[in-house]
Amino acid sequence: MTWQTVRKAVVIGSGIMGSGIAAHLANSGIPCLLLDIVPSELTEEEKRRGLTPEHPAVRNRLATAAIAKMKKANPAPLYAEEFAERIAPGNLEDDLPRIAEADWVIEVIVEKLEAKRSLLERIERYWRPGIVVSSNTSGISIDEMAEGRSEAFRRCFMGTHFFNPVRYMKLLEIIPGRGTNPELVLRMKTFCEKRLGKGVVLAKDTPNFIANRIGTYGLLVVLQEMAEKGYSAEEIDAVTGPAMGRPKSASLRTLDLVGLDTFAHVVDNVREHTADPEERARFETPDVVRELVRSGRLGEKTGAGFYRKS
Ligand code: NAD
Repeated sequence: MTWQTVRKAVVIGSGIMGSGIAAHLANSGIPCLLLDIVPSELTEEEKRRGLTPEHPAVRNRLATAAIAKMKKANPAPLYAEEFAERIAPGNLEDDLPRIAEADWVIEVIVEKLEAKRSLLERIERYWRPGIVVSSNTSGISIDEMAEGRSEAFRRCFMGTHFFNPVRYMKLLEIIPGRGTNPELVLRMKTFCEKRLGKGVVLAKDTPNFIANRIGTYGLLVVLQEMAEKGYSAEEIDAVTGPAMGRPKSASLRTLDLVGLDTFAHVVDNVREHTADPEERARFETPDVVRELVRSGRLGEKTGAGFYRKS
């Protein structure tokens, strides 16, 4: 693979980020296969239509729904609706062998080390040398994730941390692991800059890399002040958003967009991976976030977080 020739990609995980990444690859003219898990139960609508669990429409349901959703989303992840045709839906049980046809496989599933490790193990069964495999993790160690994988696989494995919403956020962190081929890292950097239009920063494999460590800490300070001084979400956002010259990144709206469960995972990840007691104390998930997550208010993806979607 050279930077001009990522001809085909596979994105695994069709949630907020996976669908955003697939859409942006499509924007850049790169066909991609979008995979997710096979749903465990039929919906009422599927039962009514007489579909069985083996039917492809059921097995590909999550990725198919994600593609339909990206055509209507606001802000639009696609440059043009018809670019969605460049994205094919699939599922992990039936379609994983098709990664052998791709140049780049991007893991974008839940932010859990064990889930990501076990997926990488499954990916390696069909992987062939030369295929780049990357993770969109917000901050899990690239080296820990790749534990148990072959040296050849690790040479082609790195973090590619896109930001939400993918089409609009220029920043992309690329995180090489200890075993990653440095030449491949540079080729991916060039590819992501020239073809995807990203501003790439090479980051070290430290918990939460660069942007999320600083950004997460800033949000924790905001939440702490909010709790201590009794400010409302609207008051906080009025000050941290447009008034600060950041029209689209008010603190709590940003948290709702990111997903409160994802934010909590990111905070836990720093605390659990640092030996420094001061740093551990700084990275505590605030009660208000734990409470929202417990009650299923995860942010925009569930229709409510700090704000309710109108
Ligand atoms: P999400 O919850 O919206 O989507 C996760 C998707 O992965 C779901 O569609 C789910 O069905 C699928 N999935 C879950 N477990 C799986 C498994 N074991 N195997 C295969 N698929 C599985 O999550 P997201 O917000 O898109 O985050 C995905 C990744 O991107 C995480 O690592 C997260 O930390 C990272 N990230 C998120 C953001 C953000 O703003 N949300 C930003 C940057 C990076």
